[in-house]
Amino acid sequence: MNATTLREENPRDHWALVTGGSRGIGAAIAISLARQGHPILLNYRRSETEAKRIQAAIEHSGTECKLLSFDVSDAIAAQNALRSVEHHPVGIIVNNAGVAQDAPFAAMDRDKWDTVTRTTLDGFYNVTQPLLMPMIRRRWGRIINISSISAIAGNRGQVNYAAAKAGLIGASRSLALEVAKKGVTVNVVAPGLIDTDMLEDVPTEMIKKLIPMQRLGRADEVAELVGFLASTRAAYITGQTFRIDGGFL
Ligand code: NDP
Repeated sequence: MNATTLREENPRDHWALVTGGSRGIGAAIAISLARQGHPILLNYRRSETEAKRIQAAIEHSGTECKLLSFDVSDAIAAQNALRSVEHHPVGIIVNNAGVAQDAPFAAMDRDKWDTVTRTTLDGFYNVTQPLLMPMIRRRWGRIINISSISAIAGNRGQVNYAAAKAGLIGASRSLALEVAKKGVTVNVVAPGLIDTDMLEDVPTEMIKKLIPMQRLGRADEVAELVGFLASTRAAYITGQTFRIDGGFL
């Protein structure tokens, strides 16, 4: 039996950093991890009111929650923010912050390409790389990266988004191999259509008919999966991508 992977963990010893935690899927993940007993570092970019609302809900349930406002694609901002909380041992990182800026590729300007790929891929680097070594030293860690089924199936108008989210899958598999012996797991959750602000401009009534379950997913359903992957029960699962999409083929 391997004492590293199967030892009992106290959730309070492992802070969970959730990027993009002010709204949607990230907010649901932060609430779910807090329910599991993890103190939360809640990152967001602009939505301060929403972030404070999530913080209040988490603190109301008796768990610590600190807000960390920075743009994950900004290396210096990320570095400064993470330094300000380096006394909190981070055991769980959920790279959830993401944006979609769709356009047919022929009409996709440089800014749309850069914003989407940098948020996902630079965001992954800027947040995960500085926190990895301390995690390895503590020999326990969970890194969960939120991709999308667009990365696997492709989607018209989402060349930038699919490239970024597929890059995240490749990065996760490679990092999983690097840290597998150190008690750190790295997995990917790839949602289908989840009912959040991100779908604001999407014709969801039409799309629902294409989903075998005929409905959108809910943020809390994604959070359940992330919560399991973040737990000690998932100690032997690494390098995997889990779709949560109502049966999309
Ligand atoms: P929302 O648009 O509802 O929320 C996005 C969150 O990310 C917000 O908290 C936002 O902060 C934050 N964010 C965006 N850019 C940055 C940045 N540069 N730095 C820090 N935070 C940032 O999105 P969802 O909850 O729907 O999506 C969450 C993740 O799930 C994304 O990675 C998305 O790509 C992925 N996903 C979503 C699907 C869906 O159908 N909803 C499907 C598949 C994947 P702020 O509020 O301050 O702007």
